[in-house]
Amino acid sequence: MDLLKELQGCRRILLTGHIRPDGDCIGSVMGLYMYLKKAMKDAVIIPMIEKPAPEFGCIRDIDMIQSDFKSDITEFDAFIGLDSSSSDRYGEALKYFDSAKKRIIIDHHVSNDGFGDVCCIDPEASSTCELLLGLMDEKLLDKDIAVAIYIGIIHDTGVLRFSNVKPETLNACAKLISYGFDYPRIIDETYYEKTRIQNEMLGRALVESIMFMDGKCIVSKIDQDTMDFYGATPHDLEGIVNQLKNTKGVEVAIFMYELAPQSYKVSLRSSGNVDVSKIAKFYNGGGHVRAAGFSMNGTFHDVVNNLSDSIAMQLN
Ligand code: 5GP
Ligand code: MN
Repeated sequence: MDLLKELQGCRRILLTGHIRPDGDCIGSVMGLYMYLKKAMKDAVIIPMIEKPAPEFGCIRDIDMIQSDFKSDITEFDAFIGLDSSSSDRYGEALKYFDSAKKRIIIDHHVSNDGFGDVCCIDPEASSTCELLLGLMDEKLLDKDIAVAIYIGIIHDTGVLRFSNVKPETLNACAKLISYGFDYPRIIDETYYEKTRIQNEMLGRALVESIMFMDGKCIVSKIDQDTMDFYGATPHDLEGIVNQLKNTKGVEVAIFMYELAPQSYKVSLRSSGNVDVSKIAKFYNGGGHVRAAGFSMNGTFHDVVNNLSDSIAMQLN
């Protein structure tokens, strides 16, 4: 995809990503925002996602994000959807999708079946940010764009640790850090540092976790009343599933939290042979082979029972 060519003549551009935005979503939206501001000086560019968590304050212009953007513009010349495998995860921005003159999709989820007018989907890319970097003209890159893109790669690879890291990923990072920013500080501040509440939630989830299928699976949950007691938000629960997955012998980790009574948001992580994107897609979610998610109605036990069957089919 020649991104700037695709955007030729576009004057009003909406950039968005998925609900509950993570580092890759925020990094790709902000990296592309800063890039297009330089490349298309006359265009109006609106970055529209939910308000990012405070640790992303190190990204320049992060305050330009308009979470509740409302205007007379009902028709955008281009709608660019980043890091989202389906349009139903665009949240508030979805209302601008159908009317946009051109819908451009940039994503790296295997579960993305290409629902735009122009699509750049590469499940081999570690992150949307890595993919996006490949679409950018090097002459327009700068330190601030590099920081945003770097954050996305770092977050989606678990700090360059997951199997989605390829030689291209490390080459991309080499190029990015050559812009000269304090990357150890950025990794600590945006990825490793946890608030007291976040650590308390992690502790609860680990202590209350249950192992099953001969120790190959682990599951834990946080209910709404626990979240209320600690004053925790869904953002405070990010990363718990990865820590569950770190348990020795575990091939599949499941973490869920209550969205509403009898309704759970489920996160899956795997190693070995289990493809969790297939399981998530079966339950109308999506994701990657080793990291995926979905929402499901029912009790905790309903969710675990359903998942046990799906996992058992792949484990055996
Ligand atoms: P997480 O478990 O961290 O929320 O998400 C893991 C991966 O699965 C991410 O790439 C995320 O985009 C995807 N994912 C999580 N939940 C959903 C969902 O409900 N629907 C879809 N389509 N993808 C999801
Ligand atoms: Mn991503």
